[in-house]
Amino acid sequence: MQQAIIGFHLDKENDWVADLACGHGQHVRHNPPWQNRPWVMTEQGRQEKVGLMLECKKCDEQSE
Ligand SMILES: [Zn+2]
Repeated sequence: MQQAIIGFHLDKENDWVADLACGHGQHVRHNPPWQNRPWVMTEQGRQEKVGLMLECKKCDEQSE
């Protein structure tokens, strides 16, 4: 299910997690693992992504 990004936070391993409108979080550096996303390391880069849609796998799992 597509969900809008409403913000970001760091998890306890210092990896960035996108906060989605549904209340779930999704790592943005390791999904897929070979795709690095340098924009996530800067405040400006993250702000530019707020409002974009991400596929939320957790929502998909709950709806099955
Ligand atoms: Zn979700």
